[in-house]
Amino acid sequence: MSGNHVEIWNNCLSVIKDNVTEEAYKTWFEPIVPVSLENNLFILQVPSPFFAEFLDEHHLNLLKPVIKRFAGEKVKLAYKLPVDSSASNGTMTVPSSNRSVPKNPIGQPPPQRLSDGPINPFVIPGLKKLQIDSQLNENYTFDNFIEGDCNRLARSAGMKIAKEPGKTAFNPLVIYSGTGLGKTHLCHAIGLETKRLHPEKTVLYVQAEQLSTQYVTANKNNNRPDFINFYQMIDVLIIDDIQFLAGKAGTQDVFFHIFNHLQQNNKQIVITSDKFPSELQGMEDRLLSRFKWGLTADLQAPDLSTRTSIIREKLYDNGITFPDEVVQYIASNVRNNIRELEGVMNSLMAQSLLNKRAVTLEMAQQIIDRFVRNTVKEVSVEYIINIVCEYFKISPEQLALKTRKRQVVQARQIAMYLAKKYSNASLAAIGQQCGKKDHATVHHACKTIANQLETDKQFKVMFADIEKKIALQ
Ligand code: ADP
Ligand code: MG
Repeated sequence: MSGNHVEIWNNCLSVIKDNVTEEAYKTWFEPIVPVSLENNLFILQVPSPFFAEFLDEHHLNLLKPVIKRFAGEKVKLAYKLPVDSSASNGTMTVPSSNRSVPKNPIGQPPPQRLSDGPINPFVIPGLKKLQIDSQLNENYTFDNFIEGDCNRLARSAGMKIAKEPGKTAFNPLVIYSGTGLGKTHLCHAIGLETKRLHPEKTVLYVQAEQLSTQYVTANKNNNRPDFINFYQMIDVLIIDDIQFLAGKAGTQDVFFHIFNHLQQNNKQIVITSDKFPSELQGMEDRLLSRFKWGLTADLQAPDLSTRTSIIREKLYDNGITFPDEVVQYIASNVRNNIRELEGVMNSLMAQSLLNKRAVTLEMAQQIIDRFVRNTVKEVSVEYIINIVCEYFKISPEQLALKTRKRQVVQARQIAMYLAKKYSNASLAAIGQQCGKKDHATVHHACKTIANQLETDKQFKVMFADIEKKIALQ
């Protein structure tokens, strides 16, 4: 073995240093260890297969001539992995602006899969795949995502996707709901199940806000193409809370490109939103229209039996029991938000532990009064329908009739608008209760009323009258 290889590599480094950014140098060249130079074969040790693939793809143009310059024209290169490369290497973190020492900061060119270009000496056979930190939370599985009428469609679509990512008609799957109804949980469940069934697939969960921050950083560092490349390599891309992209034209534009690429290549996209997509203000139409290509499914507030099952499941998980009457009381009184349901249970469990006594109905009542009643003003769709019907002197049955009678149509539209404004029900649920209409009809009704409020003074006065009655509840 020639001892010369270290010196030669140091010479190479001094040239490389002048030709790449400091960050690129630190990330992609400092970790390389020169191993040997024998018979014109220069062996470099790299931390992981992925690292080699990345070097090959992005820095070969520099590496090759520099090494030839110091080690001779005939030199060939090979990568070697550390002995135990499978244990800790071979993974990378997703580019992230809020991690302290990102292995792949998005100021850096992200990795690319090997293309079918000319064969070169740097390719390590059998190495094809990007491995990343999927950012999945192991606690959010399908097993503990309780099924109910409120989530059946979204849940089963999610399970199908995990079985056959990119191959179902649900691409993209858009899940929407109010807050605390399980969007994030379902996202993680889809990601985890996909990885369980298809360990070879690259899955990434990312919050839209994170995506946006990364994009801004990448843009600042002139790394937009690399940012796009990175995301285009994902097999199952899960973007949570897409509403954060509202008004962020740059990120929307870049996401549009990523989206198209993934979809054209049969990669799976899952998106969540806190609103029905076409209601998202500040989102580009071309993006919103893409969302319609797949399946849009909502998560509704859980019904009583689902709430009861969720409570029982959480108690079981924690190895705790509550008296039946307490379970029933919580289930009947915390209706609109599962996060709140969990909050109440956590407080109760903590109190009973602290005071070393069993949970009682009084404790539950106190906590719910304090945490839920004061913050959430519950107005049901039914209640709103009754008020509107009373005002127009029609019965709720008439309001639900299939008729074009102007007064009935208007009453129904007002009821829908108010239900959207004051209840936590989804558009689909509101439509169902207002004469079995679909969410698009509710959406249209809301737009019509909003328009009328802007243009018709007389209507506005009448509307204010009705609205007052709801506020007096
Ligand atoms: P969102 O993202 O819609 O705001 P999350 O997914 O964060 O809601 O859900 C809030 C909490 O409720 C989480 O702790 C989640 O585990 C729980 N949760 C939501 N839906 C269910 C369900 N169907 N079964 C069990 N727990 C659920
Ligand atoms: Mg969420």
